[in-house]
Formats: sequence, C-alpha cells, structure tokens
Amino acid sequence: MQKTAIPPLPLTGGCQCGRIRYRMLAAPLVFYLCHCTECQRHTSSAFGESLRFKREDMEVDPGLVSVSRMSESGKERQGWFCPDCGVRIWHGTNGSPEINIKAGTLDDTSWLVPAGHIWCRSRQPFMRIAEDELSYDAQPTDGYEALKLRWSEMTGAL
Ligand SMILES: [Zn+2]
Ligand SMILES: [Zn+2]
Repeated sequence: MQKTAIPPLPLTGGCQCGRIRYRMLAAPLVFYLCHCTECQRHTSSAFGESLRFKREDMEVDPGLVSVSRMSESGKERQGWFCPDCGVRIWHGTNGSPEINIKAGTLDDTSWLVPAGHIWCRSRQPFMRIAEDELSYDAQPTDGYEALKLRWSEMTGAL
C-alpha cells in the first residue's frame, strides 16, 4: 500500500481564473477515482478525482453557481462552478453532509494517492488498476467505509 501525508491545513485551491478560492479546514475523509460515465463527461477526461470532505469544513468565496442532474447511481447530484471560467470546484448529493472537491483544483496536488477506484465497469481500457488496490464495479454499497479505512491507513491517521 502506497502511503502519503496530508499537507498542513488548511488545504487551498481555486478555479482557473482565480475568482473563486477555497480553504479546507479539516483533513479529507477519503480520496478516490471515479470511472463512471458522468465523471468522464463532466471532466471531459478518463475519470473524476474526488477528494471527500465534510461540507461544514469548507470555506469558499461567494459567487459559485450550481446545476443539478441525476447521476448514474440514480441520485440527484449538484455541481458548483465558477461563473467566469466554468471550472467545477465541487459536487455532491443533495442533502448529504459530505462533498467531493474536484482534486485537480488544489494548489498542491503532489501528495494525492487514491485509496481506490469506483465504477470500474466503465473505466477506460488503458486504465490499469493494480491487484492490491481497492476497486468496485459500480457504487460502493458500504457508504465508502472500506475506502475511508484504507485512506486512514495510507495517511497515518490509524
Ligand atoms: Zn474562475
Ligand atoms: Zn463518477
């Protein structure tokens, strides 16, 4: 298992044009890659990077705009964007206390190592997942508990 260290808090990041900046005041709950077709489309890339936090631990500049849509797992998801440059900062399920920061918006991404992979049934064929990595064909049915546990082990919180 590859280990990593969470940098000193707060973690900071922002959009491409600089209008929206955010600060995360607590350590992330988990980091994973999502290979669902929704993430592939909204990132216009091979997968989405989800850095999960409690919403209450996020401080963000005013001005984000949001859109809602149904996800592949049948839940209403809300995405939040910079209105000037269109970069997606975070998304989440309506009513959930946890949100997913799009990890590519962090100022420092050098320490990120995923705890696992979800929705692997639609992963791009060139994406290789090692045998000792946690991976799920679709949505984890345990509420991300196994991914969170592995993240705690990787980051030394356990
Ligand atoms: Zn912007
Ligand atoms: Zn996804």
